[in-house]
Amino acid sequence: LDPNASHLTPTDRDIERVLRPQAFEDFTGQEKVMENLKIFVQAAKLRGEALDHVLLHGPPGLGKTTLSHIIANEMATGIKVTSGPVLDKPGDLAGLLTGLDTGDILFIDEIHRLSPLVEEYLYSAMEDFKIDIMLETGPNARSVQISLNPFTLVGATTRSGLLTAPLRARFGINARLAYYDAKLLTTIVLRSSEILKTPISDEGAYEIARRSRGTPRIANALLRRTRDFAQIKGNGTIDTEIARYALNALNVDEHGLDEMDNKILSTIIDKFKGGPVGLKTIATAVGEDEGTIEEVYEPFLIQEGYIMRTSRGREVTEAAYKHLKKNYPGQTGK
Ligand code: ATP
Repeated sequence: LDPNASHLTPTDRDIERVLRPQAFEDFTGQEKVMENLKIFVQAAKLRGEALDHVLLHGPPGLGKTTLSHIIANEMATGIKVTSGPVLDKPGDLAGLLTGLDTGDILFIDEIHRLSPLVEEYLYSAMEDFKIDIMLETGPNARSVQISLNPFTLVGATTRSGLLTAPLRARFGINARLAYYDAKLLTTIVLRSSEILKTPISDEGAYEIARRSRGTPRIANALLRRTRDFAQIKGNGTIDTEIARYALNALNVDEHGLDEMDNKILSTIIDKFKGGPVGLKTIATAVGEDEGTIEEVYEPFLIQEGYIMRTSRGREVTEAAYKHLKKNYPGQTGK
């Protein structure tokens, strides 16, 4: 690849980065969260302070990483990015923390996967901007306290239920990202197509949007693949017809449900007569981690009205039977 070929449209590998909104105004949706965040950022800037620590939670691909970069851009600070499982020892974290300038953002993805030792180490850093480090080993070992520049920790998690109470308590700002509706995703698809210089009709964008499982990352990925179909099988423009053709070829469900979504629904119907059935039992039957089902799959299925949470477990709704083209037994049929 010619690195100077800046006139070329971005390659697939660059696309995630290129499509990532950089400022509050480019970020679509999550209105309530954004309204508050803008105020907290403005106020911190006005006082010349670091922004309070931010915890972002929600299913994957809804914009947690994007938002942390936007916060850094809006605060005009630097950002260092790491993730829970990467931070093996307190020493790894100490290295990062001491390298932060005043006001910088430290983004820790998958913060629920920090080791207990590293997590505990983070407490004093978050609270007092101080850490203890060990000098030397053996009989001469001693610990010294060093001060850090005030910084903002932005933690992201898909599994907020796994966060310990002491860690959760240290975040002053707590924001939950929700799934996007088809209208918002259409806006995102249109914006992305413009950046990718791909002609698209509003209806074509809507077709992709409504089949993207409420998730911008999926919408962008489907847009890229649909663009390929439009170029090879069509005239380069994405309209409803080519979008439908591409999405069917990609095995994307009419309603944007993915393979695991459908497997969960059909398992509850076929093996458990539609429920109620416990989460653990479902997890074993479909071969997926219980927590992942609870925090990644189930929220979308509940939001779309395919599953209900009852005191006795999970039950599928009539909509799930319809979706899978199975006969609904009705209340008395169970
Ligand atoms: P994960 O936790 O799995 O890393 P995430 O929540 O951090 O996911 P991002 O990586 O921030 O998700 O977002 C995925 C992609 O979706 C980004 O490349 C970005 O372009 C796009 N995106 C996310 N949210 C928005 C939004 N509100 N508006 C426009 N594009 C968005």
